[in-house]
Amino acid sequence: MDQAETAPTAEEIASLVAQRLISEGGLEDLAGANLMTIEDRTIEEVDRVTRLVMDELLAKQAQQAPAVTACPKCGGPMHDRPAQHRALQSRRGKVNFKTEVLHCEACRLDFFPQMRTLQCDVDHLHTPAVLRKISIAVARDSSYTAASSNLEDLAELKVSAKQCQRIAIRIGNERIDEQQERIDAYTAASIPDQQHGQSDGAPANGWEGRVAVIQCDGGRVQVRDDCWGNDKPEGKKHRWWRETQTGVLQTYQAKPTGEDPTPGVPQCLKDSLWVVPKLNEIHRGHVPVDSSEKEESQSNATRPEDSQETTCDAKGELDTTAKSSRTPRWSGGDPLVKTIVATRRGYDHLGLTLAGEAFGRGFNKAESKAFMGDGLKVNWSIWSTHFSHYTPIVDLMHALSYVYAAAIASRGRIDEGWSLYLDWLDRIWAGDVRRGIDALQQIASSQDEVPEPIRRAIIYLSNNAERMKYDRYRCSGLPITTSPVESTQ
Ligand SMILES: [Zn+2]
Repeated sequence: MDQAETAPTAEEIASLVAQRLISEGGLEDLAGANLMTIEDRTIEEVDRVTRLVMDELLAKQAQQAPAVTACPKCGGPMHDRPAQHRALQSRRGKVNFKTEVLHCEACRLDFFPQMRTLQCDVDHLHTPAVLRKISIAVARDSSYTAASSNLEDLAELKVSAKQCQRIAIRIGNERIDEQQERIDAYTAASIPDQQHGQSDGAPANGWEGRVAVIQCDGGRVQVRDDCWGNDKPEGKKHRWWRETQTGVLQTYQAKPTGEDPTPGVPQCLKDSLWVVPKLNEIHRGHVPVDSSEKEESQSNATRPEDSQETTCDAKGELDTTAKSSRTPRWSGGDPLVKTIVATRRGYDHLGLTLAGEAFGRGFNKAESKAFMGDGLKVNWSIWSTHFSHYTPIVDLMHALSYVYAAAIASRGRIDEGWSLYLDWLDRIWAGDVRRGIDALQQIASSQDEVPEPIRRAIIYLSNNAERMKYDRYRCSGLPITTSPVESTQ
């Protein structure tokens, strides 16, 4: 008889489990049980069943495995060693199985064919699904202790803080190795391939209607220094803040169109309550304290929060979730796949990392590609080194922060400055930066002493005018703000 015909249905299994719970599984007093008890007992019992099912499947898999005889390293003969017991922490508790061990005398190595099939490292104590949860908790929480508590409270997994730390460091190092492999693949490619090719492992997805965008930015992170945990030496200051370099590689579903999909300025950019705090925050983080010639501070900038959502509805009310399908996006289409890379090894390394990642994802095959950043010179040096075949775009919000500060400095009264900002905003939005610069220069020439914000805005807009053709970028379905990378900091 066919196996499938005799297999019990899920309903039949459920009925058996329910019977067990009522007869001897802790729910003997079902009539008086509250929902907390029913849920707890049911899950305990079903988890136990899940573990037994996994044990059985793993045992069956071991029996079905094809015989391996040749050593994967030297091709020589291998002989059986006694099977080894394995216990792995799964999402539903410990699963147990015996796994075959083969030994190569010449290489003096043990091989575990089933562990390879399962894609589990031999010395891991957790299943890949649990390792994934631990990595997420460690990345999202502020400490290993917090990650450990959250894993227990939210994922019902007991993993000590020390284990979290060990696993995070191990997986982090594996990720760094993978990153280096992608960089090596990129640097080993010929220059034409670097600009037009892709790595062998690039995803096989088509690029029709998709645009590829790379954004980079600097940020800050607190790292314990050498004095951590010891008495501070006389006269020595703690230095917690370190610079990070971050990049986002994102694809968008956006059919390029012949005409500007959003010719009118979105209401939120004209709403002072929404936009002014954001522009001030960006500007504070970017204007150098020593006001040297540099148009941007190179380090220790405070970063804007995850604040630049790029949708707002017709009434100008902020859609903080930016998920509403009713609201058209004004910066890029619907986001598809996002990869985040980060380093503390400087911008040259960030450039290589981004290039390796883009090569690995096949970005060269996209018809429409953009490289984005703020006005920081180092961003554009990455662009010219690795991404000169991408459209360069300066973040609209950074540009507007200079324009706004200049508008306020041009007028004695806030309301007059505000209407000047609205006027310039129209021009910048339409990609007519030249007229914005002309207007600023006219104001500058009429003053004995040019206020600093006006001088800086003229430099910023002049340096970046070629990267501010926002109307054209919208036609190509490209984003015009760097909010994805800002929100990773
Ligand atoms: Zn061997």
